[in-house]
Amino acid sequence: THFGFESVGVEEKEGRVRQVFESVSDSYDVMNDLMSGGLHRYWKDTLLDMSAVESMAQAVRFRQQQHQQQNQSMDPSTNQLRILDVAGGTGDVAFRFVDAAGLSSSKQKQPWSMAGESQTQNQPSSSISVTVCDINKEMLRVGEARARERFGNQLLEGGDSAPLSFVQGNAQSLQFSDNSFDLYTIAFGLRNVTDVDKGLEEAFRVLKPGGRFMCLEFSQVPDPILRQIYDTYSFHVIPAMGELVANDRASYQYLVESIRKFSNQQELLDRMDAVGFQLTKYTNLTGGIVAIHEGWKP
Ligand code: SAM
Repeated sequence: THFGFESVGVEEKEGRVRQVFESVSDSYDVMNDLMSGGLHRYWKDTLLDMSAVESMAQAVRFRQQQHQQQNQSMDPSTNQLRILDVAGGTGDVAFRFVDAAGLSSSKQKQPWSMAGESQTQNQPSSSISVTVCDINKEMLRVGEARARERFGNQLLEGGDSAPLSFVQGNAQSLQFSDNSFDLYTIAFGLRNVTDVDKGLEEAFRVLKPGGRFMCLEFSQVPDPILRQIYDTYSFHVIPAMGELVANDRASYQYLVESIRKFSNQQELLDRMDAVGFQLTKYTNLTGGIVAIHEGWKP
């Protein structure tokens, strides 16, 4: 295959993960809906609500407006909202942030611009940004196409400083500087990272002091009856669906197995504590089928 060369020397898991997401990128969004019965939308909405991105963006805009009214120059480091969505794939989580931060409607909502002032200057978009980072070009390609369709080209213009950007990168060795993001999110991504602890260390490194880490991931269902139903569903129904809809049983079999092998709620919490996150906690959703873990960088 065309990626055989790239995977030389790469650990087996990494190669496997790449193969899975390359082969599923086009059917990924449909399959998500099918397999989760649409629940993944609710889980991602909950992540968005808990992130409070809407309020944080509002605060940035408010401060910006105050500074402009008082003709003060602004210290960019204290008035930015930089969000990094790792393993962001086709953009589901990032698009929620874009909407909540008001980036997609920045033309209509501009309380900071005075009448007669140029609408293109001092756009708050320069201080609010959402970066999608994924290891897989194909997922990013699908994500970027969806973004253009949804928001137009404007948000994606400006290279690295664009309000919304898609960049290829590995969660285990991020290309971003230390202390550069206010919020790091990873949704259904951490269990695919070969060295989870390295991924957590990198999340910690790129977050600003006071920054927040949030992970939405499959977890372990504590209730034995619900677990039995869930296991039956995931081991029998999901691979069958993968075969039927995406003609790819193996990839979906892998997904199910990777869920089973991944840390439970407490184990992941311990791993977060070990890299230095503070005020760590988790919230179970849908009986613990998934959990949102969060922590803060001191
Ligand atoms: N976050 C998206 C969502 O919730 O719809 C996509 C989740 S998808 C199940 C997992 C993603 O993790 C894939 O896009 C895959 O390419 C990416 N991924 C796997 N290993 C990665 C790594 N080491 N670094 C960055 N992304 C990775």
